[in-house]
Amino acid sequence: MALRELRLRENVAGDFFVDNTCIDCDLCRQIAPDTFSSFGDQSIVYRQPETPQQQFAALKALVTCPTASIGTEKHHSAREAVAAYPELVDGNVYFCGFASESSYGASSYLIVRPEGNVLVDSPRFASPLVKRIDEMGGVRTMFLTHRDDVADHEKWAGRFNAERIIHRDDATRSLASIEHLISGRDAVELDKELLAIPTPGHTRGHTVLLYRNRFLFSGDHLWWSEAYDALNASRSVCWYSWPEQTRSMERLLDYRFEWVLPGHGRRVHLSSSLMREQLEACVSRMKRLSRAAS
Ligand code: SF4
Repeated sequence: MALRELRLRENVAGDFFVDNTCIDCDLCRQIAPDTFSSFGDQSIVYRQPETPQQQFAALKALVTCPTASIGTEKHHSAREAVAAYPELVDGNVYFCGFASESSYGASSYLIVRPEGNVLVDSPRFASPLVKRIDEMGGVRTMFLTHRDDVADHEKWAGRFNAERIIHRDDATRSLASIEHLISGRDAVELDKELLAIPTPGHTRGHTVLLYRNRFLFSGDHLWWSEAYDALNASRSVCWYSWPEQTRSMERLLDYRFEWVLPGHGRRVHLSSSLMREQLEACVSRMKRLSRAAS
């Protein structure tokens, strides 16, 4: 729980506040934009929730915050906010909330399917979320986009006897025991609806997951940037190779999708033609950046 004595000075006066342990993961600003905003490299409360809907959103942000940096002066029951997760995104795809500090507050998602649910990247192993996912059919497969967003994967896989999938190039020592290692640069059809597409760049073994040619679970390869109002990737968080990431981005032009659901950054839903335009513009920007640097 956030500590009153660590409350950031920049918070507006009142009930909800952020303390100085915030790691700037952005999730509270996505979940409750009427309450939280950015200040430097942290979040603050810029306006206290006024309506029941705003308070509910602020409590969902509190539940999701990976570092428990959001607090309240008054007592609130978070029961309903806890029960809100997994939260429907579209169709049978859910956002898990309950982010983990060890994956720097990355978003994770659940695909609910009769043939077995898929957990994309790892949320915090929090008992209310575990119980709810169990009620929704458990987890058959855990798809890990890359080595940074694996958080509590061992606990999730152990609890549900799930098969984990990651690219061999990201299977560092602690991930070497993962059940299914993808190799090479070619896309791998996991089943008729799920395609794993290696996208080296952010990390050497980064891989995105395309579901039903509609949902792209993009990890830290690609996201919607609020600042640029565009699909984006960032050289500053490219740990392996920017030229490789640019080539990986260009290969994504071979596919159609309407949703980009990232680990970090904003989600976006566009028509597949608009998404393609956005992707082409993103590739062009990445190439320009490469040329400017050479
Ligand atoms: S969710 Fe928590 S860690 Fe993330 S930006 Fe908000 S206060 Fe900071």
